[in-house]
Amino acid sequence: PVAVELSDLSYTYPDGHRALWGVTLRVGSGERVAILGPNGAGKSTLCLLLNGLLKTTSGSVSVCGLSVERDLKEIRRRVGVVFQDPDDMLFMPTVAQDVAFGPSNLGFGEEEVRRRVERALDAVGIAGLGHRPPHHLSFGQKKRAAIAAVLSMQPEVIVLDEPSSGLDPRGRRELGELLAGLDRTLIMTTHDLPYACELCERAVILDGGRVVADGPAQEIICDA
Ligand code: ADP
Ligand code: ADP
Repeated sequence: PVAVELSDLSYTYPDGHRALWGVTLRVGSGERVAILGPNGAGKSTLCLLLNGLLKTTSGSVSVCGLSVERDLKEIRRRVGVVFQDPDDMLFMPTVAQDVAFGPSNLGFGEEEVRRRVERALDAVGIAGLGHRPPHHLSFGQKKRAAIAAVLSMQPEVIVLDEPSSGLDPRGRRELGELLAGLDRTLIMTTHDLPYACELCERAVILDGGRVVADGPAQEIICDA
């Protein structure tokens, strides 16, 4: 089944800057795709369009058969976006409250929320840190907490913007192991080619807002 389908997607920022030009891309369920490309290529814009944080200016985005234009609420549930800077995602007094925020908002009961928080913290390896304020965590722990906040929503598609940026070699390796163990459709932007090669079977290169290459990560990255 198809998880994500972009058809002739374009996006122009309100100031008139056109960031994406006719992007067509289909991502299968369970597939892991790295989105590569220089600064300004349109990678972050693409991430924001995937869950409707930005509204398409032309073309369409659909996720699991739902249209971002028509079914925005449902799409937000199915596509979790992990921002590059975890501080943009952690704003509650404790880590557990941040991780609980999404499922509480979806209307799940207290018991289900507690269960999801526990599982998500456990999955990212910070089970003991739920009671801590996010600003007491190391950068790597914050990254994990931000991922837990997305996992607790149990999205079908997880989008990560530059997951390895800012991490030391150990944090980078540990996060890689975590991501490799997630049994979900993954779309990640990165400048970290070895990471892309290790974690993704497919790579898409964006340049100037257009797809300039799309294929097996091993080939694309070795050729790049
Ligand atoms: P990347 O993530 O690949 O570095 P972005 O998606 O951030 O690229 O940016 C794509 C293009 O859109 C760039 O030329 C950038 O300058 C422009 N851009 C990004 N955000 C805005 C904005 N809020 N308003 C106008 N132009 C923007
Ligand atoms: P299982 O019950 O076998 O873990 P799921 O379909 O529920 O199967 O989870 C799929 C994947 O999601 C698991 O491989 C796991 O790594 C990851 N995961 C872990 N914790 C959570 C969570 N709280 N919410 C969603 N997914 C999670």
